[in-house]
Amino acid sequence: MRNVAVLGATGSIGASALDVIARHPDRLRATVLAAGRNVEALVALCTVHHPLHAVIADPTGLPALEAGLRAAGLATQAHAGDGILDALVASDACDTVVAAIVGAAGLPSTLAAARAGKRILLANKESLVLAGELLMQAAHDNGATIVPVDSEHNAIFQCLPDAHAHAGLSRIVLTASGGPFRGRARAELATVTPEQAVAHPKWSMGPKISVDSATLMNKGLEVIEAHHLFGVDGDRIGVWVHPQSLVHSLVEFVDGSTLAQLGLPDMRTALAVGFGWPERISSGVSGLDLLAQGGRLDFEAPDLEAFPCLRLAFEALAAGGTAPAVLNAANEIAVSAFLQRRIGFLAIPALVEQTLDALPATPATSLEVLHEADREARHLAGQSIQRMAVPA
Ligand code: NAD
Ligand code: MG
Repeated sequence: MRNVAVLGATGSIGASALDVIARHPDRLRATVLAAGRNVEALVALCTVHHPLHAVIADPTGLPALEAGLRAAGLATQAHAGDGILDALVASDACDTVVAAIVGAAGLPSTLAAARAGKRILLANKESLVLAGELLMQAAHDNGATIVPVDSEHNAIFQCLPDAHAHAGLSRIVLTASGGPFRGRARAELATVTPEQAVAHPKWSMGPKISVDSATLMNKGLEVIEAHHLFGVDGDRIGVWVHPQSLVHSLVEFVDGSTLAQLGLPDMRTALAVGFGWPERISSGVSGLDLLAQGGRLDFEAPDLEAFPCLRLAFEALAAGGTAPAVLNAANEIAVSAFLQRRIGFLAIPALVEQTLDALPATPATSLEVLHEADREARHLAGQSIQRMAVPA
């Protein structure tokens, strides 16, 4: 029996994870559920899954969480704040952690799970972008198993089962749907709205990653994620736009073989791989009938002029040190401002580039250095928005 902590339980990945968990009462049990602010949604999940612990990050939500659990007649213990989450993740309450908080806010709990040697189903790519080396080292030193559940990295994980395969690896190719604005020229992107940006053609996801998919920053973050997970440098990571979103990524070996993983675009497959590995368990996702899906798989090169975020991420990876942390932080600020209609779509890459230029990379010698880079980048990007000094 796996005892699972679902962090980001009220989100899109959280819902998919809980769906898979509920299909396997004999082997999976949600023991910790954590969310950011939405107490009502968290209580509703508790009434279905009966966890031992429920954690709301926003401390002002604690009284409502306690009252809600009591009213529902549940024995679930209520907690609030970030510190308690890190402690619970490290405790005997769970052996498996679904890291699905959005943004850099997910780093402390993911790191706590790595330090405690847990199995981590890692959706929170931002924690790898921010502190990939430290996180991978902590997992390695403490015997934690990281199973990536980002669909591309999960695909690569499935194609690279052991160290022998790694040794013969020559290149990784991440596929990208291209997002809702695939095929548009840069000039056509100036006036797109948040509603248009979050309307993803293939995946149903939270608002932040949906905007990241529209700018291709999501693929950029994934390039950095792949570098840390699989030890491959940027020049051996390719990106192919694949609008059908059925081939989730490809791995090329020195002998000329290419392996790919295919499936319907549904995150429950990757989560089931994470829960069951090395066994296979059902996920609720049906098999892929390529003929029923139209019988074709198309691939094209990404348009880096219309979508400069992908280029910026490759550059940040090459610069190394604090650059990916700055990229990620500036992007989080920019996306949030775009969703609030304070800046336009093209200002997202402009703001990220401006922040990267203002804060040249320094060696990432410690977590504190990375946190400081993250803070500085947020501050600078926030100031630019306030002064309306974002080029576009
Ligand atoms: P979402 O916005 O739907 O959900 C985010 C969750 O995080 C919510 O439960 C929210 O309450 C919680 N949260 C936010 N701040 C928090 C905090 N400070 N403490 C605790 N909880 C907090 O986002 P999502 O689409 O589920 O994405 C989650 C993560 O998974 C992101 O890092 C994203 O990049 C990654 N991911 C998502 C998908 C997908 O299909 N949705 C695919 C690949 C990777
Ligand atoms: Mg992905």
